[in-house]
Amino acid sequence: MGRIEELLQERKREGLLRTLRPASLRKQGKIYLNAKEYFDFSSNDYLGLASHPKLKEGAKKAIEELGIGASASRLLSGDLEVHHRLEDRIALFKGKESALVLNSGYQANVGIISAILKRGDAVFCDRLNHASIIDGILLSGAKLFRFHHCDSNHLEWLLKKERGNFKEALIITETVFSMDGDRAPLGELVNLKEKYNCRIMVDEAHATGIFGENGSGIVEEQGLTDKVDLNLGTFSKALGGFGAYIACSKDVRNYLINTCRSFIYSTALPPSVIVANIASLKLIKEEPFRRKTLLENAQYFRNSLNKIGFRVIGSSQIVPLIIGNTEETIELSRKLQNKNYWVLPIRPPTVRKGEARLRFSLTYYHTKEILERLINDIYESKHL
Ligand SMILES: *Cc1c(COP(=O)(O)O)cnc(C)c1O
Repeated sequence: MGRIEELLQERKREGLLRTLRPASLRKQGKIYLNAKEYFDFSSNDYLGLASHPKLKEGAKKAIEELGIGASASRLLSGDLEVHHRLEDRIALFKGKESALVLNSGYQANVGIISAILKRGDAVFCDRLNHASIIDGILLSGAKLFRFHHCDSNHLEWLLKKERGNFKEALIITETVFSMDGDRAPLGELVNLKEKYNCRIMVDEAHATGIFGENGSGIVEEQGLTDKVDLNLGTFSKALGGFGAYIACSKDVRNYLINTCRSFIYSTALPPSVIVANIASLKLIKEEPFRRKTLLENAQYFRNSLNKIGFRVIGSSQIVPLIIGNTEETIELSRKLQNKNYWVLPIRPPTVRKGEARLRFSLTYYHTKEILERLINDIYESKHL
């Protein structure tokens, strides 16, 4: 039996086989699977912008004027004025000198990290950082040091021991973590970056559009805009669109245009996607009530579950409910799916052993009424 058959059989045996489940429709925070309607608690459309009329309008207009595909890489003839307009807006939004748009968060991390780090450099990476960050590091050939999740003491211990042995060093962290819903101790990481002469790169995939006075993320909220060298984020989550960006200095942007392989060797994003992203940035400014309501509701959901004896962690719109035992977690998710909530179990090895959980990804569509009903249904499913 070959590798392919072996893996499939093993995954099946352990109940870990991943499969696809196509939805026939997604609308107003609901998802339709096999003709059944669910409240969607597994989506990253945090602000409900993916189907906002202004995004659709912008995209339609762009299609009429500029067609569907960008037809070439930005360095050939795929570079459109709208790409630059989006980059100018992102630079302004993030308070940096410039910005570069990349085709997805995954491509951005893989391309950027492998362009700025080389063999002989070191990278200090939070243990729970996203797979695309890890892949970028592996591709770069730099030496990888992983520090305990959100533990700046452990990071300093590593820096003290290792920094002197390497030419350049980069600290990388997400600002809001996708599986734990918690936030990096950014102020402490920035202090260490200065003390040990490193650069720092953050991934604001889950924070962009949600945190900070202007909604640009945790870096803004913490007042660290000038201290963070590379500020990456995506248009694919709260912004409801697609693609990613890095906000940085002009020099870093020019360096990436010359060296970032996922930028150079891939067709530019379609104009409709770019124009929708521009519309979405405008909405972040014009409709702050979306992020305010979302964070208030998340707080309410978290507190209510706590009060009735559940263990919830994090401090964002991502609310992990820790059950512990894997079978119990799967059982609870099945019961909730029967009650029309689309929420999935997250289990080892994705999370630590004994920390199996349901991960509720809250969106603007999940009103207090829906959450109240969900809280009741969670209680009943667990206790009755
Ligand atoms: C989702 C995510 C990405 C990938 O972004 P895509 O645009 O979906 O490719 C990268 N980093 C983090 C932290 C993410 O959560």
